[in-house]
Order: sequence, then structure tokens, then C-alpha cells
Amino acid sequence: MIKHHPKLELLQSFVDGDLPASLAAGIAIHADMCAFCQQKIGHLTEQVAEASFEQDLSPKSAVIDISPEISAMSFDEIIDQITASNDVEPAAVVHEERLITFKGMEYTLPNTLRNMELGKTAQIGKLSRARLNLGEGEIHTNLLHIGPGGSIPEHTHKGFELTLLLAGTFADEQGEYVAGDFIMLDKRHQHQPATEHGCLCYTVANDALHFTQGINKLLNPIGAFIY
Ligand SMILES: [Zn+2]
Repeated sequence: MIKHHPKLELLQSFVDGDLPASLAAGIAIHADMCAFCQQKIGHLTEQVAEASFEQDLSPKSAVIDISPEISAMSFDEIIDQITASNDVEPAAVVHEERLITFKGMEYTLPNTLRNMELGKTAQIGKLSRARLNLGEGEIHTNLLHIGPGGSIPEHTHKGFELTLLLAGTFADEQGEYVAGDFIMLDKRHQHQPATEHGCLCYTVANDALHFTQGINKLLNPIGAFIY
């Protein structure tokens, strides 16, 4: 069962459209796997809609400007015009699954990530990483696969790190995590995730990881790799 959810403030920012694409995608993936958060997002969205509706009814913004051409059109004509535009693709009825393979283990990508551009897979030991090219500067987004028996050395974060477990399980000092768990860490936390049977994570971080154990210099390439 999923135990780790995005905080309410994060859900609120998601509904308000204030999150970078990487974090918004993380929330959307989690909500697809978590009925509880899906419902919360539904409530928050209703609240936002009501608030903006009330604003629209205030005297200052009560002028609704509908051009004569539009108001003369039937609903079907409006829809036809929208779908005829080059900018709007008609919604595809059948969604094809997109599969990704790491070290011979095959995974289905979440719908949210299906159309995102994925970089080449890089590997260090049991870690494999494919970047999602979202063009968000210092915010880096990856698919991170840890092979069976693999782990990430104990580390802290200079910025934040979101780990969203997509498949498999891993454990750290806090316990075991399952698919759907949404783990947001900042520099106050430190952890050492390890997986017995392998796992696939969606990760978003805005700074390289900082390793807390000895032989730091040796481990630094892993920090840059994961970030
Ligand atoms: Zn949730």
C-alpha cells in the first residue's frame, strides 16, 4: 500500500499550475496510482474553479465579450472549428503503451511520460539512468533503475530530490517503499536506498547528491550520475 504522498501545499501548487513540468508530472503519475490523492486534487480543482467563477461574477469583470460570429455558431460548429485547427490534435482513442528496458527488465512507462523525450541510457554498476529532456536548467529529471541487489550510497541533498517509485520496491532507514510512493527529500534528510529485486524510479533533483560516507571523492561520480 502507498504510504508516501505529496504534501497538501504541493498538490495546491499543482492545481494552481505553479509547478515546473518535472514535478507536475510526478504528481500526475502519483495521482494515477493513488485514488486518495486523485480525490484531493479533484476537491482542490473544484475550489479553484469556484473561486475563479466568483471572481468572474464580480462587477468589475462582469463584461463577457463574445464576438457575434462565435455566438451565431452552433456548438457543433465550434467543436468542428477547434478540431480542424492545426494546433489541436484530435484525442487519440487508443493509447499505445511505451515500454522501456533496463538490464533486461521491461517496464511500461506511466501515461504521463509516454510522449516525453528520453535520452540514452547510461550505466554505472547496477545503476542505469535515462534523462527526460524537459529543459528545466538546474532541475534534472531521470528514470533511474537500480538492478537487483543494488543500492545508492548514503547521501544527503543540497537541494530537493523527488523519488517516485514506479515499479519494484526499495528500502531505506525509514522502511520499505512500494510502487506509487512519492518521496520528497531535502537537505535535512539523508538516506541509503537499497533494492533486493530491482526497482524503477522517476527522480527529480535540483542539485547533485552529497555523499556522507568516507571515500567521498570516489563516490562523487555517482552523485553527478544520479543527478
Ligand atoms: Zn497519494
